[in-house]
Amino acid sequence: MIVVIRPHATRPQIDEVIAEIAKLGYTPSPIFGATQSVVAAIGDETTHQTLESLTALPQVERVLRVQKRYKLVSRESHPENTVIDVDGLALGGDEFTLMAGPCSVESEAQLLETAEAVRAAGAKILRGGAYKPRTSPYEFQGLGPEGLRLLQKAKAETGLKIITEVLSENDVERVAEAADILQIGARNAQNFRLLIECAKTGKPVLLKRGLSQRIEEWLLAAEYLLAHGNPNVMFCERGIRTFETYTRNTLDLAAVAIAKKESHLPVIVDPSQGCGRADLVIALCCGAVAMGADGLLIEVHPNPAEAWSDGQQQVDFQGFAELVAKLRPFLQAVGRG
Ligand code: PEP
Ligand code: MN
Repeated sequence: MIVVIRPHATRPQIDEVIAEIAKLGYTPSPIFGATQSVVAAIGDETTHQTLESLTALPQVERVLRVQKRYKLVSRESHPENTVIDVDGLALGGDEFTLMAGPCSVESEAQLLETAEAVRAAGAKILRGGAYKPRTSPYEFQGLGPEGLRLLQKAKAETGLKIITEVLSENDVERVAEAADILQIGARNAQNFRLLIECAKTGKPVLLKRGLSQRIEEWLLAAEYLLAHGNPNVMFCERGIRTFETYTRNTLDLAAVAIAKKESHLPVIVDPSQGCGRADLVIALCCGAVAMGADGLLIEVHPNPAEAWSDGQQQVDFQGFAELVAKLRPFLQAVGRG
């Protein structure tokens, strides 16, 4: 870290800062200027106590970080892309991964029909919420354990892997038994206790970006999972809150490119929550591929007009098959066909 001293500070004041830096376990290296001095503090910023508290001293102007706050998720610590083993399926490697299915698991017929349709179109992973985070307590909250049972049945019948959201620490064990990937929702993106519990399962985790989460905070949330022993983590960009009203959220495709640069972990895009409009899903999928995403998480429903949640953004079976066909040349163009 670099500790910037205020102009015209006295030598005893600078010595006081040097002594404090040493006390906090860093090696101080001062550079004296005619009017202003700085003290470089050498040490591991990620694990050491922060020196930011030194700004409490009147002679300290500011404290600048040199190292990034995340370590394990950073590409510096792991230059190659991480490929996650999802129950035998490689995610984040050469092959692009399609995850698709309904927003919510509603019934056996709805889920099995959808599973068959998305599998036929090329999806490898079935999505479906059994526990739903709804804005209003009067809206459908998900089928719970029965939803998990139906997801397992769909897996047994189709061979698709399963991704489903875990809403609470109380459900982690139960969801981890049924799912191949634990989905952490946007509303829980910084629920650190939940992240730690999910890390302990060792199961692959898909970490959605929070509604108003900065990219650094998103990377640090993933750092929680890795720091607690789970390297099987993928990011999911699903749109952030902005002033725009033509879309439900603003899908931040730049964040996909940044996450790929900053981290070795796979990045998935959810265009469905990302714009909240079925008619835009194809365009956003193509954009995601171009930006370097490793996969897509898409909401598909047999009859979106009758969906129990997020009907406006779900595509039907024909729409999904068309989408996959339209995506093919884009995948070929980036060498992932
Ligand atoms: C979902 O995938 O249906 C969902 C609720 O996602 P998010 O957490 O991104 O809103
Ligand atoms: Mn949804």
